[in-house]
Amino acid sequence: MEMHNFSSGPSILPPEVLQKASEAVLNFNNSGLSLIEISHRDPSFVEIMNSARNLALELLNLENKGYSALFLQGGASLEFVRVANNLLKVDGKAGYINTGNWANNAQNEAAYFGAVVEIASSKDKNYSYIPKNIVVPNNLDYLHITTNNTIYGTQFKDFPETDVPLVCDMSSDIFSRNLDFSKFDLIYACAQKNAGTSGINLIVVKDELLNKTRSIPNIMNYKKHIERESMYNTPSVFSVYVSYLTLKWLKDLGGIAAVDRRNLAKANLMYSEIDRNSLFYGTAAVEDRSTMNVTFFLKDEKLTTTFDELCLSEGIYGVKGHRTAGGYRASMYNALPMTSVQKLVEVMQRFETRFL
Ligand SMILES: *Cc1c(COP(=O)(O)O)cnc(C)c1O
Repeated sequence: MEMHNFSSGPSILPPEVLQKASEAVLNFNNSGLSLIEISHRDPSFVEIMNSARNLALELLNLENKGYSALFLQGGASLEFVRVANNLLKVDGKAGYINTGNWANNAQNEAAYFGAVVEIASSKDKNYSYIPKNIVVPNNLDYLHITTNNTIYGTQFKDFPETDVPLVCDMSSDIFSRNLDFSKFDLIYACAQKNAGTSGINLIVVKDELLNKTRSIPNIMNYKKHIERESMYNTPSVFSVYVSYLTLKWLKDLGGIAAVDRRNLAKANLMYSEIDRNSLFYGTAAVEDRSTMNVTFFLKDEKLTTTFDELCLSEGIYGVKGHRTAGGYRASMYNALPMTSVQKLVEVMQRFETRFL
């Protein structure tokens, strides 16, 4: 059966990427050796690491603009800590915008290290919207936002106007839409949503931001990792390779501009169906709807098992909502083809005719 993979992460990868990654595990570059049994200092892997870092900057249009790219282990959750370690001064404070579970975790983790203030929150309405007209104090070491709220299906379309460094968790929408990425001083993203598989994070940081980093362990220190060209310690070689292949796939496709159009078309189709279908409803504020994670609910929860079974029988995988949010969530990352969205919409329509 053809599968339609709406998983929120780890998530769908392009078939070409899976093909090449599996070949490299068996026989990397016709060397007779596996990618995952050679030294990370081998010139062939060093080249992969450098290409991946360069591709990330190129796709974000941040080449030669004073930014560095890193691929480090730890998941986005480690970056919550590393960001604070690098940017939060001894007597300083950081601002956080609380738009969901991940945003809240980022804030709580930073609070172990220094002073944080919540600048705005959408918790009052169960994170169903993005706060607007946010006034950002100018005495912050940085302002942290989560550009796309993976669990609740909301996404920043405009960004707070501020002179303080803007740091963002872009885990679930990096490389998915045209933005002026030079607006941001530090971007981080776990790879398993739009940039590869789990095991690594991409960090893109403005070099000048790291000039005054306080004394912290090397493994936490972005500056140290940049000096060592993302090889301070053994990288997750397989994950880096999958990211390299994924970014190359994106470049060959036409870069962010090309997927931006595709992603908008997918999101429009999905949201039109949710709005039209009498059995379902969405909760995210219309103007803040995410193009990556579409959340929706059944009006009659008693139909849950029937709809789940229908999805299963049609090869629709991973649409169950996050355990804290309930309902359904269709994650539609770059690699998800339009045909999978059409399939889900068709199944929702067929489901409706059964119960009308
Ligand atoms: C998935 C996700 C995370 C968590 O990433 P881990 O790699 O599991 O630590 C953090 N932030 C956002 C926005 C996410 O979507």
